[in-house]
Amino acid sequence: MQYSLFFIQRFKGKVLFNVPMSEHTSFGIGGPADVMAFPQDEGDLKDLIAFCESKGFQFHLLGAGTNLLVRDGGVRGIVVNMSEGFRDISWLDEGKAIVGAGVKLPELVAQARDRGLSGIEFAVNIPGTVGGAVMMNAGAYGGEMADVVEGIETIGRKGQKGFMPKSEIGFSYRKAEIPRGAIVTRAHMRFRSGDPEGIKERMREFRERRKASSAVHSPNAGSIFKNPEGKVAGMLIQEAGLKGERIGGAMVSEAHANYIVNAGRAKAKDVLALMALIRDRVFSMSGIVLEPEIKVIGED
Ligand SMILES: Cc1cc2nc3c(=O)[nH]c(=O)nc-3n(C[C@H](O)[C@H](O)[C@H](O)COP(=O)(O)OP(=O)(O)OC[C@H]3O[C@@H](n4cnc5c(N)ncnc54)[C@H](O)[C@@H]3O)c2cc1C
Repeated sequence: MQYSLFFIQRFKGKVLFNVPMSEHTSFGIGGPADVMAFPQDEGDLKDLIAFCESKGFQFHLLGAGTNLLVRDGGVRGIVVNMSEGFRDISWLDEGKAIVGAGVKLPELVAQARDRGLSGIEFAVNIPGTVGGAVMMNAGAYGGEMADVVEGIETIGRKGQKGFMPKSEIGFSYRKAEIPRGAIVTRAHMRFRSGDPEGIKERMREFRERRKASSAVHSPNAGSIFKNPEGKVAGMLIQEAGLKGERIGGAMVSEAHANYIVNAGRAKAKDVLALMALIRDRVFSMSGIVLEPEIKVIGED
């Protein structure tokens, strides 16, 4: 196997071969990745990137796979799974923290709450990692990662360590502009001191406001489309009469129209066909072009 020698000789983290991506995405969909590597630290990451560069192998970053659709033919090259290493949070003075890319958002929200720190409560229901959340500028209820991120530590395409202050990241709605191939290893974040009861209350309120999406029980990847300016994508899809619409195993959720669920053995091609149908119908009805929020990787 062309990848084996490197992993035997140098890599400290776990390495899996021919891994079904359906086991690593919240959608439960996706063909096999040739290789999945779980770097433990920056040393592992640098070696891995240098190896990929020298051999011309592609690599793809994976956090918790909660915003991802992987095509049915799977992923060639190496999937770099950030969810097992980089799990550290260093709490500093003045509400600052340096947070590993593999930390899950609900864990960060809970630790901040326990320290009486406010600003990240919006993420209480977002299941991804900090790395994925930075890349997506994840947000809810008027808050987003850009509000609390001061900068990010990165490993670049040549394996070089870097730091990008917020002013260079170019955050916008569900988007961060980070150079292609750069890997987020840690986020420098800053929170405000807050009243612990107020923080808990906001978390409770945000959980309560999740009623529609928490009624979605089948595997999914959260909102499929971004909200167009001044509109709510879910409302447009509902108004187009698409709740419950089904192609193969993929179905527009009855509970939340901007969720597509894997109603059983869905293929990526079913989800993509359903997304195309939604875009067509919403466009015919309203003239609005819906832009996907989820990322799609892999081959057919
Ligand atoms: C039930 C449910 C509810 C959700 N609710 C919300 C919500 O309220 N708001 C919201 O914004 N999102 C929501 N999401 C979507 C998703 O949880 C977020 O986008 C999350 O931030 C994605 O993180 P992840 O670790 O799962 O990223 P992944 O899905 O693994 O990856 C997303 C993108 O980030 C890249 N990436 C991941 N880690 C790194 C890294 N360390 N360095 C560089 N690139 C990286 C990947 O290559 C990919 O392009 C929801 C999803 C689900 C399933």
